[in-house]
Amino acid sequence: MSGATKVETVGHEPAGHSAAQDIQWEDFRDHLATAEKDGSRRWLYPKKPSGRLARYRTWFAWMLLVIMFTGPFIRIQGNPLLMIDILQRKFSILGQIFWPEDTVIFAVSMLVFFTSIILFTTAFGRLWCGWACPQTVMMEMVFRKIEFLFEGDGSSAKAFDAAAWTLSKVVRKAGKHLVFFGLSFVVGNTLLSYIIGSDALLHIIRDDPRNHTTGLTFMVLFSLLFYAIFARFREQACTFICPYGRFQSALLDENTIVVAYDNQRGEGRGPWKKGQDAVTRKAEGLGDCVNCRQCVAVCPTGIDIRNGVQMECVNCTACIDACDSVMDKVGLPRGLVRYASLNGIQKNEPLRITPRMIGYSVLVTALGCLLAFLVFTRSDVETLLLRAPGGLFQQQAGGRLSNLYTVKVVNKTSHDIPVQFRLMNVDGRIQLMGGESWTVPKEKLGERSILVEMEVGKLAGRHTPLEIGVYSNGRPLETVKSVFIGPGAAH
Ligand code: SF4
Ligand code: SF4
Repeated sequence: MSGATKVETVGHEPAGHSAAQDIQWEDFRDHLATAEKDGSRRWLYPKKPSGRLARYRTWFAWMLLVIMFTGPFIRIQGNPLLMIDILQRKFSILGQIFWPEDTVIFAVSMLVFFTSIILFTTAFGRLWCGWACPQTVMMEMVFRKIEFLFEGDGSSAKAFDAAAWTLSKVVRKAGKHLVFFGLSFVVGNTLLSYIIGSDALLHIIRDDPRNHTTGLTFMVLFSLLFYAIFARFREQACTFICPYGRFQSALLDENTIVVAYDNQRGEGRGPWKKGQDAVTRKAEGLGDCVNCRQCVAVCPTGIDIRNGVQMECVNCTACIDACDSVMDKVGLPRGLVRYASLNGIQKNEPLRITPRMIGYSVLVTALGCLLAFLVFTRSDVETLLLRAPGGLFQQQAGGRLSNLYTVKVVNKTSHDIPVQFRLMNVDGRIQLMGGESWTVPKEKLGERSILVEMEVGKLAGRHTPLEIGVYSNGRPLETVKSVFIGPGAAH
C-alpha cells in the first residue's frame, strides 16, 4: 500500500524538520529511515506519544510486564507457568511439563503456533508487534519512558544530546545508563529463569559463586546483551534482526488491517490556515493532512506513515494518536491515520474475511483440536522397554524360561510415581530386579531391569508377542509391547 508519492514542501513545519528533509523522504524506499546517506546511524529522538491508544497500550503493557516478570515464579500444580529448559530439554507450558519424548505434541504445538501467527498477521497485520512483542513493550514502555525522564523527548532530547558536556549532563547520562543496566540485569535474569527455572536461578544467586561460574557468566552476558539492545541497538532489532518483521510483507494483503494513512482523504497536503474547514480546503485542492509531521515526530522507527506500509512500521499506533490530536485542534474528523485495510481506504470497502483467512482458520482449528487431543490423552509416564543386549532366553527351575529386559520410565509429573508391571496378554510372571518396589522420582527418568518368566508350553513360537501394563497403585498408566524369545518350536 503506498500512500503519497509526492510530498509538498510547506512552511508549516515543526522545529527540527526542514524542506531538505522533506525532499529526502521522497526517496524513502531507497534508504533506511535510521541511516544517513553515508551509512552512519541516524539516532532517533521520538516525541513522547500521548492519547487514547497510548493510554490503552500502557495499561496493556503493564499487564504484560507483570506476567513477563512473574511468569517463572508462578506455579501451576508445582510447575512453572512457562519454562523452556533447553539444557535438560524440558518444557513447562501452563504448568504442564513436556519432555523430549513428547516430540509429536511439540511438533504439533509448533505447527499451531506458526499457523496462528500466519493467520493473525494476514488478518491483523503487526498487531502483535505494536501491542505485545516483549521488545516493543520493554523499549517503548519502559526504557524509552526512563529516557524521557532523564533527557526529555523529541527536539529537547536532541538538543540535550547536542549540548556541550556539563556536570548536569554527565549526571543525567550516567543516571540513565545506570538505571538501564540495572533493568537489563533484571530482564537478563528473568530470561535466564525462563530457561533454567526460577529455583535454579535462586540457587545460583544464594550459593557459593565459585560453584556456578557458567550460570553467573550467562547472567552477565544476558545483562550486557539487553543493555546493548535497549541502550543502543533499539529499533534496529525490529528492522534488521526480527524474522517476523521481515516476512510480514509476504503475509499482508489488501484486506489486512494495518496502521495506515488515508491518502484519499489526506492528499494534497498543505498547512492549516485559520478559518479553513474540510470544504474550503477541498475547494483549494487540499486534503485533510496539514503536513505538520507530528506523525513522523512520534515514530519510534523514524518513518513517515504517509509513505504507505513499510517494513519498519511496528504498528505502535503513536502516529494515530499524534494525528488525531492534530485533527482535534483543526476541527477535522479523527482517523486520518488509523487502523484500516488498503481496500477500506482505496475502495471504501468494509473489513471482510477472505478465503485465505478461512483456509488458515480451518487449519488452525484442526491442528488445535489435534493438539488438545494429544495433550489430554497424554500419559503421565513414558515407558521404554528394551530387551537386554545380547540376551536370548534363560532356563529357570520348573521348566520355565525367562527373558531379561531393561525398562526406562520417564515421570512427566511433578510428583513421585510408584510403578508396577503386569503381563497383559500371556500367562507368566514379572520380577522387578533390584528390589520389589520402584518409585520413579518426579520429572526424572528411572531405569531398572525386569525378568519375565513363562512356561515353555505357553510360548507362541520363537517370538511370543508381549504386552506389559505399567501401573501405579492399581491405576493403569500405559501398555508397552515387546517380544519374548523362546527356543523356537511352537507348542
Ligand atoms: S509509522 Fe506509526 S505505527 Fe508505524 S512505527 Fe511509526 S508511529 Fe508506530
Ligand atoms: S499528523 Fe496527520 S496531519 Fe500531521 S502530517 Fe501526519 S498525517 Fe498529516
